[in-house]
Order: sequence, then structure tokens, then C-alpha cells
Amino acid sequence: MQVNLSELFSSDGKERTYTQDIEMEQFQAPDGVYEIVKKEPVRLTIRHTGERKLEASGEIRLSLEIPCDRCLTPVKVDFDLDVNFSADLNQTEEDRAKELDEQPYISGNYLDVDQLVRNELLLNLPMKVLCREDCKGICNRCGANLNFESCECDRSTSDPRMSVIQDIFKQFKEV
Ligand SMILES: [Zn+2]
Ligand SMILES: [Zn+2]
Repeated sequence: MQVNLSELFSSDGKERTYTQDIEMEQFQAPDGVYEIVKKEPVRLTIRHTGERKLEASGEIRLSLEIPCDRCLTPVKVDFDLDVNFSADLNQTEEDRAKELDEQPYISGNYLDVDQLVRNELLLNLPMKVLCREDCKGICNRCGANLNFESCECDRSTSDPRMSVIQDIFKQFKEV
């Protein structure tokens, strides 16, 4: 959804609150595509401070389904993000993007709400998502989800590369 900002420029100090739907159904993260399973319209209060400079604050609320780090079960992760930004529309789009080190979400007099949401999500993605604290993960031999089933695989020895890693682990523990 695009917000037309031009009406704000009619006077200094003009302010408006916009409520805009998020249109995208999925979020393209660096390591996969996550479903947006819940979303609320984005509320943005934008103020024209003068000379085509804007200040904005708002709130983004949505839930993503992110696979568990260990067993890949989808986990619903809630986001409740406060957004604050300022923009100088006298700058070119490229300059602004470079300054902020992110994808431009303002183009001409239009603000792209989905792009703003994408940027904020990228900044706020959790490092690691687990379906539960003690998730046992997936058997790396047969693929069984070890939270729900056990398998007969011998996961302790057979792969020589793994045993090297286990030796390293042991050394660490002994220290
Ligand atoms: Zn898990
Ligand atoms: Zn197994």
C-alpha cells in the first residue's frame, strides 16, 4: 500500500495519522520465506516539519511463522515494533537509502508501507527460533522428529567427522 505524502507539504507542522494494510502475505527473509499468519494495519503518524522534511512514528504488529532452528516445525513469532524515522525528501532516493543502509521505502512523494515493514522485520528478526526450549531436533540419519518419536539410529559414533567434533566437545567440557 502506498501512502501519498504530498498533502502534508501544504503547510509546515502538518501532521496526519495513516492506517494502512500490509499487502504482502509472506516475508522474504535472508534464509527463507516466512508466512505472515496474522497482521494488523500499520499505524503511522507523519509530520511535515518544514522544507519537505518528515518525521514519523508508528507501530507494526504482525506474526510470522518461522521454522524451529532444530526441528523445522513452524513457530508463530509475534512482532510488536515501534517505528521511528525521519526523511528529507529533498535528498534523492539513492542518497537516503545509502545513508540508512536499507531498501528505499519512499519514492517520489510516496511511502511504500510493505517495504517499510520488510526493513523493520529484517532489523528485528530473532537470531534463533526454537519450538520449545528443549527441542530435541531431528535425527540427522533418518529424519525422525525426536520430540515425538525415537529411532534406532546410532547417532553417537558412526560418522568419523562427527566423532572429531565430539572429541572437541569433550575437550571443552574437561577444561
Ligand atoms: Zn523444534
Ligand atoms: Zn534416526
